[in-house]
Amino acid sequence: MNQAETAGTPDTRDSLVELRDVHFSYDTRPIYTGLSLRVPRGGVTVVMGPSGSGKSTMLNFIGRRLKPNSGDVFFDGIDIDKLSRAEMFALRKRMGMLFQSSALLTDLSVFENVAFPIREHTALPESLIRHLVLLKLEMVGLRGARDLMPAELSGGMQRRVALARAIALDPDLVIYDEPFTGLDPISMGVIVKLIRELNDALGTTSIVVTHDVEEGCSIADYVYLLGGGKVIGHGTPEEMHNSDSEDIRQFMNGLPDGPVAYHYPADPLDQDLFDGGSR
Ligand code: ADP
Ligand code: MG
Repeated sequence: MNQAETAGTPDTRDSLVELRDVHFSYDTRPIYTGLSLRVPRGGVTVVMGPSGSGKSTMLNFIGRRLKPNSGDVFFDGIDIDKLSRAEMFALRKRMGMLFQSSALLTDLSVFENVAFPIREHTALPESLIRHLVLLKLEMVGLRGARDLMPAELSGGMQRRVALARAIALDPDLVIYDEPFTGLDPISMGVIVKLIRELNDALGTTSIVVTHDVEEGCSIADYVYLLGGGKVIGHGTPEEMHNSDSEDIRQFMNGLPDGPVAYHYPADPLDQDLFDGGSR
């Protein structure tokens, strides 16, 4: 096990989420070949890696929407693989998720979108639901927009509604999949600020998945960098920026070639062109 996998890793007891030696393939294509990471409680942990490195896949392990082929996933010390479907459904209440596309329900109002998980998971009276929804919308600055439909909102506002929905049930963990993608710089700044503020105000733990080094580092307490099916480095943003590991430097500085090769593995070019290659 290399230094990147052990040194300075947040302690297990202080971890809300832990993945231990996870292996996973889509059909025969390996995505993870020994992924281990720990998400400390109370902080914002940013998981970075190139597009296609398996970040969204990893998030699906945490909610057990996907199961690893081997390895363990713990949430609050619970091995989620051992839970029944009903227990897992209950546990998911403790996780809020902001999907890669905001994925608002287009035929429901802003209010109803935020109310949706509350209605799905609780039997609270309407007056209390209204109270909860308006408080969450207030937190993202959109209480006044409650009667609008998603199509009437800008992309940045849609993302904020999705954020309000993700925290509707006061989750212990909020998971953000590429929350900055496709936003203009001002909206992006708003989302960065909101993720930080909501994390600290609600005392939650946040996992932010992004390929965006700058935005990721700007909100991270702790950073994990994925590549080649495992963790290639982790540390505070400062430690990552100052790392002398080639792999970490390539990603942090956006260098086109390095340990992560520019060329997808292939037969040699001359063989491919002149001998018919393997296909
Ligand atoms: P990231 O979120 O880091 O961009 P993903 O986790 O979405 O990466 O995907 C990792 C790799 O697995 C990608 O190459 C993607 O094409 C592939 N992949 C994702 N979902 C599926 C699926 N349902 N079936 C087969 N391959 C998939
Ligand atoms: Mg993704």
